[in-house]
Amino acid sequence: MQNPGTANATPDRFPAQERLADGAQFIAGRLTKGTSGRTHAVVDPATGEEVYTFELAGPDDVDAAVAAAREAFPGWSGATPGERSEALHRFAAVLAERAEEFARAESLQCGKPLKLTREFDVPGTIDNTAFFAGAARHLQGQSAGEYSGDHTSYVRREAIGVIGSIAPWNYPLQMAAWKILPAIAAGNTIVLKPAELTPLTALLFAQAATDAGLPDGVVNIVTGTGREAGEHLVAHPDVAMTSFTGSTAVGKRVAEIATATVKRIHLELGGKAPFVVFDDADLEAAANGAVAGALINTGQDCTAATRAYVQRPLYEAFVASTAELMETVRLGDPFAPGTDLGPLISHVQRDRVAGFVDRARAYARVVTGGEVPEGELADGAYYRPTLVADAAQDSEIVQSEIFGPVLVVLPFDSDDEGLRLANDTPYGLAASAWSRDVYRANRATREIKAGCVWVNDHIPIISEMPHGGYKQSGFGKDMSAYSFEEYTQVKHVMFDNTAVARKDWHRTVFGDRP
Ligand code: NAD
Repeated sequence: MQNPGTANATPDRFPAQERLADGAQFIAGRLTKGTSGRTHAVVDPATGEEVYTFELAGPDDVDAAVAAAREAFPGWSGATPGERSEALHRFAAVLAERAEEFARAESLQCGKPLKLTREFDVPGTIDNTAFFAGAARHLQGQSAGEYSGDHTSYVRREAIGVIGSIAPWNYPLQMAAWKILPAIAAGNTIVLKPAELTPLTALLFAQAATDAGLPDGVVNIVTGTGREAGEHLVAHPDVAMTSFTGSTAVGKRVAEIATATVKRIHLELGGKAPFVVFDDADLEAAANGAVAGALINTGQDCTAATRAYVQRPLYEAFVASTAELMETVRLGDPFAPGTDLGPLISHVQRDRVAGFVDRARAYARVVTGGEVPEGELADGAYYRPTLVADAAQDSEIVQSEIFGPVLVVLPFDSDDEGLRLANDTPYGLAASAWSRDVYRANRATREIKAGCVWVNDHIPIISEMPHGGYKQSGFGKDMSAYSFEEYTQVKHVMFDNTAVARKDWHRTVFGDRP
């Protein structure tokens, strides 16, 4: 391990490294070093090399970040929506100027191909920032009125306070943005803990906010482990709400801790998205959609297509064309222009994914993939795109979230059966239905229990529409105006209009005396 605070990547892979020279904690508008006494290294998963080392946050750093957010809250929540909106517009402009730095840092720490970070992660984040700049001026509520006859009632939609957020490693920049933007647009201040594997772009994001003129303390980042910094943040008495994106198992633990102080909770958890292909579907479109939807971000996407249910007449043809397409996908260096798919986030995650596939060999057919590539990719956390067929519905590979480039395909006969199987996991984040019959497709959108159902596509997201789960995929919405429901509290204000001392309803207390 190198000296903490140092970076070890070439400038073309990590052009922003100088910006993070002072440490990996961003508190009250400045980078500082963590005080846990332990260091951690960000590893490039494409090579296994350490590219940035830093001191992890301990409880004192979390306390300092919460205190900074608390101090910033009265000023920021008291700013007009127009002032907050203007700051967010400036923030979007700074992000756009630094887009290439963000794309390279995200590719470096996650192993994502540069074309993905350039075309998806970074522009999506800039668009989200611009969206929340507009949305900040547009909070919704019921209209004021004399609902009782004798009073005027209205609602105030108010900021909650300091938000404590925790994010995963699969889309570190976008997950930071999805948590930070609606929270601050609504007037809250925030402390975010990114995954310790991937802190770089969350730190650059917070720094860009300060450079754009957001007041110190509005956005703070603590980079520590889940057990230490994460749990301390969730339990903190000065944090009013916990928003968490990550696995269902950790989400349950976070909910337990947050409940002890009656915090609001927002949970975006795991997924196991079904991909339902009816027998009238366009087979070519479905096969392309399945491969792209399963492999995006090397399958480390909570909405990725993971279970393809294909109606019997199309089943064998779908298996054959999906396998053939998977074999054309090029694994390689995330920074090379010809690369379609990068490594997984770590060797640990790669081995976990390989374990699922290896165990499945006993009860299912591995049609293609299922291998760790050798040769020049051997040092990275690579795994070949994998198609598994003929697994039973109740098997591990169909029921558990794998979070890797693995698609399982199963046949079904009737429409009823296809929809029943699609709903048969504990998850409910996203799904897609493939058909050219509007009645069939429309039925699928009604009956699939998931927070998002695509028809004849799988994966696209947009800032204006909500993202969030059903069932054990959690609750609460990211993106869209709906996220303000999460990050605001609604107050009913009621004015008496009669100006009389003894009001009609007082009879219930005073009886019929005048
Ligand atoms: P994870 O649950 O292991 O970790 C997520 C975050 O929680 C990390 O920052 C981690 O440090 C922290 N953490 C771990 N233990 C903690 C604890 N005891 N207390 C507080 N914080 C703790 O998830 P991951 O492996 O980083 O990410 C993959 C998971 O995230 C998948 O399950 C995926 O489906 C999910 N995900 C969901 C969405 C969504 O929108 N629903 C989006 C992206 C990822």
